[in-house]
Amino acid sequence: MPADHHSPLKIDLAGQTALVTGASRGLGQAIAVALGRAGARVACVARNRQKLDETVAAITAAGGTATAFECDVAQSESVQQVVDAVLEQWQRLDVLVNNAGITRDTLIPRMQDDQWDDVINTNLRGAFLFTRAATRPMMQARYGRIINIASVSGLMGNPGQANYSASKAGLIGMTRTVARELAGRKVTVNAIAPGFIESDMTAAMGESILGEVKTRIPAKRLGRPDEIADAVLFLASPASSYITGQVLTIDGGLTA
Ligand code: NAP
Repeated sequence: MPADHHSPLKIDLAGQTALVTGASRGLGQAIAVALGRAGARVACVARNRQKLDETVAAITAAGGTATAFECDVAQSESVQQVVDAVLEQWQRLDVLVNNAGITRDTLIPRMQDDQWDDVINTNLRGAFLFTRAATRPMMQARYGRIINIASVSGLMGNPGQANYSASKAGLIGMTRTVARELAGRKVTVNAIAPGFIESDMTAAMGESILGEVKTRIPAKRLGRPDEIADAVLFLASPASSYITGQVLTIDGGLTA
């Protein structure tokens, strides 16, 4: 459970507000809990209300402050409503983590229109909608941190993932462009490209494929969600002020 993880990083986000999409489980939950432990008020966004409440409870149990927002990141109106509600509640938005993501793997000749659309809409359009909504308050405040959770699949090909790979490569392209647009306003935009990390998403691959994957990872293991959360914590902090438009790969050496 990520709530048990005490980051070795001493990062203080007291007084700041963070919004994490896909905060109901996996990497997003670990990221939300880490930001909450660092003192930020955390807006936890996903579709599953019950799971979101578990994340909020974990943050509250650790002495933090959090609110759940039920929202499909691909829906333009509800994204704007969530950002408006966060600004109403906490008057500021300092950190945005675009983490919500799905896979619908299949080889290209078999890929259905909806498998393509669902992945692009959640992984890429969702990040666009939240970035656009968060940009205005961040530009006004002349401070902000946007962190996009991409994937090594956005850097290299992976059979069965044409939709996912395109969404993550697109996210990296968006990261670089928005970084250039916002740098003058002291808003930084970076991406993290995880390799294989323990979560529902990788568990769905099955034991035998994961066993084969581990032999290809120089670290000989999957990463843990808290190992992604620690990198997010650094990029979310004032300590990363001159880093923007970058992609930080965290993969145990897979793409080294
Ligand atoms: P996960 O365990 O499957 O969790 C996915 C999260 O995204 C859930 O919280 C889910 O919440 C949320 N989500 C999905 N569709 C959504 C939608 N339309 N609207 C709102 N929220 C939505 O996956 P994970 O492994 O933690 O992955 C998190 C991110 O890391 C993804 O972007 C993924 O592509 C990326 N990543 C993961 C790995 C890995 O090895 N695990 C590697 C590289 C990159 P609800 O179902 O409650 O909506």
